[in-house]
Amino acid sequence: MPFSHFNLPTPIVKAIQDQGYTHPTAIQEKAIPLILSGKDIIGHSETGSGKTAAFGLPMLNMLSKCKGVNALILTPTRELCVQVSEALAGFAKYLPVKVVPVFGGVGIGQQINASRTADVIVATPGRLLDLMARGLNLGAVRYLVLDEADRMLDMGFIKDVEKILSHTPKQRQTLLFSATSSPRLRSLVNRYMNSPVSVQAKTHVDPSLLIERAYMVQIQEKFSLLVHCLKHETSGIALIFCKTRRNCDKLAKSLRAQKISATEIHGGLSQSKRIQTITNLHKRGIGILVATDVASRGLHIDNISHVYNYDLPQTPDDYVHRIGRTARAGAKGNAVTFVTPQDARDFKLIMRDIERVIKPAPLPTFEKIAMPSPTQEPSSPSRDGHRKHKQFWNRRRH
Ligand code: AMP
Repeated sequence: MPFSHFNLPTPIVKAIQDQGYTHPTAIQEKAIPLILSGKDIIGHSETGSGKTAAFGLPMLNMLSKCKGVNALILTPTRELCVQVSEALAGFAKYLPVKVVPVFGGVGIGQQINASRTADVIVATPGRLLDLMARGLNLGAVRYLVLDEADRMLDMGFIKDVEKILSHTPKQRQTLLFSATSSPRLRSLVNRYMNSPVSVQAKTHVDPSLLIERAYMVQIQEKFSLLVHCLKHETSGIALIFCKTRRNCDKLAKSLRAQKISATEIHGGLSQSKRIQTITNLHKRGIGILVATDVASRGLHIDNISHVYNYDLPQTPDDYVHRIGRTARAGAKGNAVTFVTPQDARDFKLIMRDIERVIKPAPLPTFEKIAMPSPTQEPSSPSRDGHRKHKQFWNRRRH
């Protein structure tokens, strides 16, 4: 089905063509007609599904001429906020629509000024509340999107989100996107949405293009194996996942000591540093990023050839989100998981939960390199990660 099927106005169609999109993705095909007909929807879709255009294109079609902020998109992370606002600005390039990103970690003055004349605001909850406290009015919002709502709840934003919702008119269209469901999410839906229609769409990842591998490796040999893989296998961008910020910093530093140019990205770094890292990667199209799970959601970095689960993901959802960063939009990708003897049981449970069978791959011959000390330790995962991990495995084990 071509995009023309939706009868979107010419400026939007032209912007879609500029993006190089020829056909809608599954979530777009299902969600756009429903959104255009005014329905509230719950989109069960994962990163990479094309959900930004799924809510962005009909939103732009429906923006009214009323003054003020007509559409509000809430995102859990600063990175996603920037990405969504850039994508929306791209779709709106032939329209007189101003899209303003609002996120913390940078000066507030410019955001206050920009938001005064915004038609669309894409915001993280905390900074939006700051702007509201300084006079930003949401009384003209007709269109509200909760993007990656599950993540937003996981990160403890529920009170902020509810406060923001209570400052928007009841007569609005509400769209919620989430990869997973939970009782808390359903309660949010029941209280703030109007007879929502559920739309399911599989991820954009093509399983036939994704090669998943697991290496059974001793904890003290993980680093050497990773160095070997990075030197011999990676062709585009490699995204390496660690459990904690500390592990991330340490691993990136140890890789640099091996003359492997790696950059860390996690929630502990300043916003400008995170944006700069992503921009540089996009420019070069090649590089190594060492990340926590914060980076696995929402970020779209093209040309990721390999995802390495250096530390095992905490839950099956995290596994799915991590590997969803590669093999996108028709490209091939590899997902490589390092499983230590201590991880074996959790790995088995993850595989069982997502109904996958990954046979351990034979270990390549690799040079042993000393790392200051192994980075796998149960130490201080983020509070969010720790709680999620505990909840999940308690459910599984009992
Ligand atoms: P999203 O899930 O919105 O982050 O989108 C994931 C990636 O898919 C982005 O790089 C989009 O530019 C791309 N994308 C979205 N819709 C389409 C489409 N209809 N055709 C091709 N690529 C798309």
